[in-house]
Amino acid sequence: MRVILSFDVELWCNGWDRLDQNFPGSFERYVYGRSARGDYALPKTLEIMNRHGLKGVFFVEPLFAARFGEQHLRTIVELIQSAGQEVQLHLHPEWTDEIRPPLIANVQAKRQHLSMYTLDEQVALIGHGKRALEAITGRAVTAFRAGSFAANRDTFEALARCGITIDSSLNDCYAVSGPDVARPPTYQTQWRVGPVVTYPVTVFRDGFGRARSAQVNGCGLGELAEALASAVQGGCGHFVIVSHNFEMLKPDRSDPDDRVVRRFERLCALLGARYEVGSYPQQPAACTGERQPTVGTWSTGRRYVEQALRRLM
Ligand SMILES: [Zn+2]
Repeated sequence: MRVILSFDVELWCNGWDRLDQNFPGSFERYVYGRSARGDYALPKTLEIMNRHGLKGVFFVEPLFAARFGEQHLRTIVELIQSAGQEVQLHLHPEWTDEIRPPLIANVQAKRQHLSMYTLDEQVALIGHGKRALEAITGRAVTAFRAGSFAANRDTFEALARCGITIDSSLNDCYAVSGPDVARPPTYQTQWRVGPVVTYPVTVFRDGFGRARSAQVNGCGLGELAEALASAVQGGCGHFVIVSHNFEMLKPDRSDPDDRVVRRFERLCALLGARYEVGSYPQQPAACTGERQPTVGTWSTGRRYVEQALRRLM
């Protein structure tokens, strides 16, 4: 089984009203996350990954830079590339109406999801993002994840037209994620949508039978460990985990959340010791009879208790 440890790298300015005032502080927090104990956004993420010998996939959001300047995108990409990690394309079209001159004609209203854009608009936005990243990395963008997992059938056509052959946008825990994209009749960890191979975010059944996606922020370590083992048992060819550049930080702060740091450290140690971790394969493993991973009630119950304690504190 190939584990893909993926990160969506993006920044936000605490609303859309005071973008220019908020951008410098937001950039510092989301990209570096500086604190007295170290830089727990991208730098610490990259350091931990490398310490455990893990190669991840960093989906970088470039549209913000069409608003604030390409040098900021360059800073992010160079941080990731100089750590020997892979850069691919993430897209949050919420930025589209903030960009001057506009990248597409219709920017009268903010449209959050890529699925709200026409095929031609998606081609224009994905094409812009791809060129912006490639101008910095000097390498072809080959993989994509839509912001908020909000891809639709047109997104796959747009990817094909832009020459991107790998997608990792689908996440069955989100209603906006590819509702019009056909799923295989049985559980599969990859399939083709036209010329594009999609590797959905892994969704497992938690200890209470609920669907839960393999996101570092939102699963207990025990759940992730059990889901990984269960995926191997179930003959899965791939296991896609999602995280973000800012997940080790406390909400709205720049200092680290020790609980999350510990969980990420332990997850990386587990992956480094027991699993094959790397890029999305150009040629997916041909697996038959894959079964959806499941997790026992003990691990999920433990996450519930931890979340409840956290709310009390
Ligand atoms: Zn995102």
